[in-house]
Amino acid sequence: MSFNTLGLSAALLRAVSDQGYSEPTPIQRQAIPVILNGRDIMAGAQTGTGKTAGFTLPLLQLLSTSVNKNGGRPIRALILVPTRELAAQVQENVRTYGKHLPLRSTVIYGGMNFKPQVDRLRKGVDILVATPGRLLDHAGQGTVNLSKVEILILDEADRMLDMGFIRDIRRIISQLPAHRQTLMFSATFSDEIKRLAGDILKSPETIQIARHNTAAENVSHVIHPVDHSRKRELLTYLIESGNWQQVLVFTSKKHGANRLAQQLNKSGITATAIHGDKSQSQRTKALADFKRNKVQVLVGTNVAARGLDIDQLPHVVNYELPDVPEDYIHRIGRTGRAGNEGEAVSLVAASEMGLLKDIERLLQRNLPRIIVPGYEPDTRIQMLPQQNKGNKSRGGYKSGPRRGSNTCSHKRNGSAGHPRAYQ
Ligand code: AMP
Repeated sequence: MSFNTLGLSAALLRAVSDQGYSEPTPIQRQAIPVILNGRDIMAGAQTGTGKTAGFTLPLLQLLSTSVNKNGGRPIRALILVPTRELAAQVQENVRTYGKHLPLRSTVIYGGMNFKPQVDRLRKGVDILVATPGRLLDHAGQGTVNLSKVEILILDEADRMLDMGFIRDIRRIISQLPAHRQTLMFSATFSDEIKRLAGDILKSPETIQIARHNTAAENVSHVIHPVDHSRKRELLTYLIESGNWQQVLVFTSKKHGANRLAQQLNKSGITATAIHGDKSQSQRTKALADFKRNKVQVLVGTNVAARGLDIDQLPHVVNYELPDVPEDYIHRIGRTGRAGNEGEAVSLVAASEMGLLKDIERLLQRNLPRIIVPGYEPDTRIQMLPQQNKGNKSRGGYKSGPRRGSNTCSHKRNGSAGHPRAYQ
């Protein structure tokens, strides 16, 4: 199936082909015609599915083909997103896909100067991408007018709720016209999400791309049991022996991310940390350096998990497992995107076995444990999976680690290693 059959204009098709996309992804196939029809949607699609183009393309089409009846240049579309990084990326997508159209867009989020945002808003924009807190600041100061919004998009709604934005979102929505089109995207469906959807969507079309709480299909998962004290050494070894050039590493704490980045740098692996305590310009620079392969390792907390659009990221490492199992899926959403193969590696200490079991319950399968020779944990007995079900592929998961079900290609001290898999 090609993009030509979705009802998009020539200007948009040109932008799509400029990007090198030959076929729409499933979310794009399903969402674009429905949105073009003016319907509300509730879409269950996680990051990496092409959802941003799935709403941006029809949005641009609707705005460019309908006349602004209000005169002037009011904000006609509002895209709410949870994080600054995602805001910047969505805006980049709007620009990329809208480059042959005369529509104007801007992005506002916290951590940046207020004044330039006010100036840009004053000049008039058709599409505004914003994080909820900063948008409300502008609304409070009277520097943004949302009374003419025709289309509202909530991207990563579940994440916005997780981050405590529910009140902000409801306050923002109270400033929008009741008559509008609303598109809601969420990777997961809690009761709170359903309640919000029930309140703000009008007879929505429901689109479900991935099953609830599933992980990207083309990602291999592997668990390396290891003692906590040896994680850094093992990570260094994996990066060097595997010649990994672009690695995203997750830690649970900000200071842990800083420390790990420093230690990696000391051992000759270029690394930088990205998390909520960094200024916006530091975060932007860290991401840009990583994308340009100027740094090999980006170490981040969960804040970095959402909204990083890094193409073809082959390795994501959980240096520490997340406390919330759903965050495992969000984290590994950074790899195996849009058809590329990816590997999610987790370094798991005995104390994290409870967290691992929660993740496996969510994924409905056991993840393969592979011990790297020389890094055998002292507390091995506690690392066994609860039940010995093997690594059956369910619901489209790719089974087993890519390097072979029971073997590992890591080499240690120049000799081939033969790790044992716990199965
Ligand atoms: P998203 O889920 O919106 O974060 O998109 C994930 C990645 O898929 C982005 O890097 C997009 O550039 C890419 N992408 C979006 N649509 C397509 C498509 N039709 N074909 C190939 N790649 C795509």
